[in-house]
Amino acid sequence: MDKNVRICIIGGGPAGLSAGMYLEQEGYENYTILERLDRVGGKCWSPTYNGRRYEMGAIMGVPSYYAVHDAEVFCGITHDGPKLNRNYKNGRGDVIEPFEPKKNIFKIPRLLKMKKQIKLLGELLETKYKGYDLNGHRGVAEGRYDGFAVTPGREPVSGTNPNLKDLCLPFSEFCKKNGVELIQDVWIGPFTSFGYGYFDEIPAAYVLKYLDFQTCMNFVKINLWTWKNGTQYIWEQLNEHIKHPARLNSNIEKVERRDGKVYVTVNGAVEEYDKIIITAPLHIPGTRADGQKGMDEYFDVREDEKELFSKIDYERYDVLAVETRPEDHPEISYYVFDNMTPQTLGHLMVYYRRWKDTKDQVITTYALRKHKDRPEIPYETCKQMVLDDLKTMHNPASNVINEWSVYYFPHVFSEDYAAGWYDKVEAMQGKYDTYYAGEVMSFGDMDETAEYSRELVKRFF
Ligand SMILES: Cc1cc2nc3c(=O)[nH]c(=O)nc-3n(C[C@H](O)[C@H](O)[C@H](O)COP(=O)(O)OP(=O)(O)OC[C@H]3O[C@@H](n4cnc5c(N)ncnc54)[C@H](O)[C@@H]3O)c2cc1C
Repeated sequence: MDKNVRICIIGGGPAGLSAGMYLEQEGYENYTILERLDRVGGKCWSPTYNGRRYEMGAIMGVPSYYAVHDAEVFCGITHDGPKLNRNYKNGRGDVIEPFEPKKNIFKIPRLLKMKKQIKLLGELLETKYKGYDLNGHRGVAEGRYDGFAVTPGREPVSGTNPNLKDLCLPFSEFCKKNGVELIQDVWIGPFTSFGYGYFDEIPAAYVLKYLDFQTCMNFVKINLWTWKNGTQYIWEQLNEHIKHPARLNSNIEKVERRDGKVYVTVNGAVEEYDKIIITAPLHIPGTRADGQKGMDEYFDVREDEKELFSKIDYERYDVLAVETRPEDHPEISYYVFDNMTPQTLGHLMVYYRRWKDTKDQVITTYALRKHKDRPEIPYETCKQMVLDDLKTMHNPASNVINEWSVYYFPHVFSEDYAAGWYDKVEAMQGKYDTYYAGEVMSFGDMDETAEYSRELVKRFF
């Protein structure tokens, strides 16, 4: 492609800013990033409280976050945050140690079986499901893999493997089919409580591409990265280091694609581009209180875009930042496994104490309030449930200081995944001078979205 091509990038989160960085590295310097908010980072939002930054969005990474590491190297920063640690409670607020055989004598047979199944899954993923862990979803529904390796070289790889079609199944069915049901006890912690939905509704491909074997083991061993100034700092730094920082407060009213050009009406003026990369939501069912819109509301969407993007759903994931009295401050972060089921929708699943050396910092809480087959729990109801749960956990909040319900982890369900949703969308890349990136194209974490932008640039520019 002509290196002078004029590229508009919608969204100044990890996907959009990484797209800018990778384009620049490939010699494309004529890009513009439009961000609707007055800050960059998107769902990496790290506000300040009592002089320190806490996390309303993304919290952690793992050592295989190669694209995030690219951004770190580009900016000369590193993951210098507080060490993570956690413990477990049951729904009544008692501390438990679910994986400790000595504390669960009656559960020893189950724990031993689980350990065997974890080993088995590791072997199956290496052999039967070879190619499962590539970034993005190209070919999976057709029994192929086609992408970039998740090893340090990140070279392109492709091949056929009909077994990969199993990844279209909901994760719980995938586990049953492979006789590894018990591994869900381990995978659920960094999946459901992190807002990515329930195993009976989410295709295995999402679960295993994010929590590939190595990554899941890093969570188990708490071999994780955090950033002292928050995850937002990575993207703020990247924004400062790229040649064209995001234009904040950009209200995009209209996007029209005609005659090989893209016309973007932003803050009342029309701008002309040759190509557009969209990392903002492609479709949002219903309306959202925060005014976030799907692309289909301001683009001249075509029939194929409309049909495919209307299949996208997302998670209703709520975060509260609360103060507690010092004597009520939790001594560590807690997972509440009993609350990670569709039956306990709306309840507190995990709460995070970020700073261990002080009790004057906030605790953040996490809850889901939508399951595919159940009515959505209203925001205020869920908020009250979480505050009540904190009392049950013996860590009552004295004050809520920040809150948001975020458009999170857009995805498609198993039927659409199996019907080739991803291959159809991938075939549309570039068709209307438009490229689709961001969470839905890979997975809802910092690294998968940034890595997808890297690959998009390598594949098409
Ligand atoms: C509570 C929470 C915890 C998380 N924990 C982790 C974690 O520990 N580790 C991890 O890796 N990830 C985590 N994530 C996920 C991670 O933050 C996201 O997957 C990642 O930020 C996605 O990047 P993105 O650029 O695709 O989208 P976003 O971060 O959503 O960025 C999209 C950007 O586009 C902008 N935008 C939207 N619409 C428009 C428009 N019409 N015009 C212009 N701009 C627009 C938005 O304002 C936003 O800045 C977490 C997220 C949340 C909410």
